Amino acid sequence: MNIKPVFEKKERPIIIAGPCSAETREQVLQTARDLAPLKIDLYRAGIWKPRTRPDSFEGVGREGLAWLREVKQETGLKVTTEVANREHVFDALKHDIDVLWIGARTTVNPFSIQEIADALQGTNIPVIIKNPINPDLQLWIGAMERFYKAGINQLAVIHRGFSFHGESSYRNVPRWQIPIELKRQFPDLQIICDNSHICGRRDTLQTVAQQALDLNFDGLMTEVHPTPDSAWSDAAQQITPDQFELLLANLIVRQPGTDNPELEASLDQLRHEIDEIDSELLRMLGDRMKLAEGIGEYKKKNNIAILQPQRWNEILQLAQLRGSQYGLSPDFVSVLLKSVHQESINHQNMIMNQSVVDEKS
Ligand code: PEP
Ligand code: MN
Repeated sequence: MNIKPVFEKKERPIIIAGPCSAETREQVLQTARDLAPLKIDLYRAGIWKPRTRPDSFEGVGREGLAWLREVKQETGLKVTTEVANREHVFDALKHDIDVLWIGARTTVNPFSIQEIADALQGTNIPVIIKNPINPDLQLWIGAMERFYKAGINQLAVIHRGFSFHGESSYRNVPRWQIPIELKRQFPDLQIICDNSHICGRRDTLQTVAQQALDLNFDGLMTEVHPTPDSAWSDAAQQITPDQFELLLANLIVRQPGTDNPELEASLDQLRHEIDEIDSELLRMLGDRMKLAEGIGEYKKKNNIAILQPQRWNEILQLAQLRGSQYGLSPDFVSVLLKSVHQESINHQNMIMNQSVVDEKS
């Protein structure tokens, strides 16, 4: 895919801001008037709102498109809204919406994406695609491909975090590795972080915005409302234009790279050492798997089950204790060890099944 940028400007961050939902003409225009002096790149407002539960506010519908048109005329800001089906697309195009955004609940459904992509055939409107609610990178890439095939080549993506079951301080867990992998595969793709939907609350918006910039994201999408507490949707995560101005002022914008040869040389040296350690780690993991295979042979001969829960528990606890001495978090050690353990089980399984095949032949 030869994807073209949605945002032409070179300096970062790219800023998309505006209310979660368009509620009234006054609210839409007032928020835009307050945001225009902050030189945002795109003004957002949801007209059709996909809500998790029925009986919540589901958007003002078509009427709100005229308000967005007024925003354009009065402030000169470019505007975007979420589209989730063919009718939304036709209405949005009729009202000169500049950029369309695809919501997380739409990206999960290839039928919906295809319907929207088909409706866009022959237009050249830019599209920004939120990640699907589930952590599935292929589905996200698949949505990009469907739009690209329909002739839409100005594409960008929005990382808004992923649904999960259980407790978390996030509304949607970021799982940064997923957008990082997307950026690895598509280095020129513009990636915007929607800190509002990741956080779900105001007090962590700044931290997550900074984390995104530190990871070289291209920009932010943040929900801004004149009176957040009385917002008709997502009240807990919206902030006032003044609070948003402060958030922007407090951001530390890092350079994507460096041209300074001295800095580059010291970074290269450190990267070289990291590469060496990585290769050593892999060699050692390979050795560990060979030992696991030996154990597999032994267990097979003596008819012992692969998994010994007590032994596994001991390994994990000991590793977390040791890890803490090296400054490694218990969570990291647990994820790492579980992955190593699974690979050991796979190797042992291979040995045991191989023996079965051998015995039968
Ligand atoms: C939104 O941006 O208001 C929205 C509904 O977001 P998401 O699709 O990320 O849930
Ligand atoms: Mn919202």
